[in-house]
Amino acid sequence: MVAPIRIRFIGCGDAFGSGGRLQTCLCVESDTHRFLVDCGASALVGLRKFGVDPNAIDTVLLTHMHGDHYAGIPWLALQRAAAGVRRPLGVLGPKGSAGRLPRLANHLFPSASPRPDRFNLAIREYASFRPTTLAHAWPGGVTVTGYPVTHVPATNPHALRIELEGKVIVFSGDTAWDDHLVDAAAGADIFICEAWSMRPRAPVHLDIETLRARRADIDCERIVLTHMGEDVLAALPIEGFEAADDGMVIEV
Ligand SMILES: [Zn+2]
Ligand SMILES: [Zn+2]
Repeated sequence: MVAPIRIRFIGCGDAFGSGGRLQTCLCVESDTHRFLVDCGASALVGLRKFGVDPNAIDTVLLTHMHGDHYAGIPWLALQRAAAGVRRPLGVLGPKGSAGRLPRLANHLFPSASPRPDRFNLAIREYASFRPTTLAHAWPGGVTVTGYPVTHVPATNPHALRIELEGKVIVFSGDTAWDDHLVDAAAGADIFICEAWSMRPRAPVHLDIETLRARRADIDCERIVLTHMGEDVLAALPIEGFEAADDGMVIEV
């Protein structure tokens, strides 16, 4: 029997600290794989809080370039360097990641004697709709496909379809309703979906009312809500959906 894959919500909050939740960061683990999906500013704190060794994280996948989804990378990289980890921190992000991440790191944590490689990042960028296989580290590999979605365009937003060990995990990232979510989530074992408000409130985020109206279009039995704003948190539990919580572990 194949061992289950565990998804640990290191943080499932929005950008505004709603409900006191940490910013977005998922840790995906199996017997042979461990990686993060998004790495919000609070990710290093969350990893320690929930008992995940930050020095054992070698790979981070990014949905888009908003700080509540990627500003934790410099701190994770610094921690690894301080602990003497020599393996580079691999990042697979949307186009623009390779330019922005090193700049962000140097802005957040200037050094008296800066070395260009002190954060030891190995950054790759994915192209929309084109599967990228991270084969080097793990048997069987992990295949990641980014689907462009409707969020702030400057962040190059994507939903991620992640395939490993015969399972499919899909994360919407931040987005308003977008038909690409239907393609990304088709046949998935789990669809982790942002749901920021109960009713349409922002043109760049999803809401429960819209998600209910589109539910039948999504070919995935299991939808887990994340990135919830205050009104959604106050309405939990929401019929027909599971809801994430910081520290929660689910298996697929
Ligand atoms: Zn966000
Ligand atoms: Zn965002």
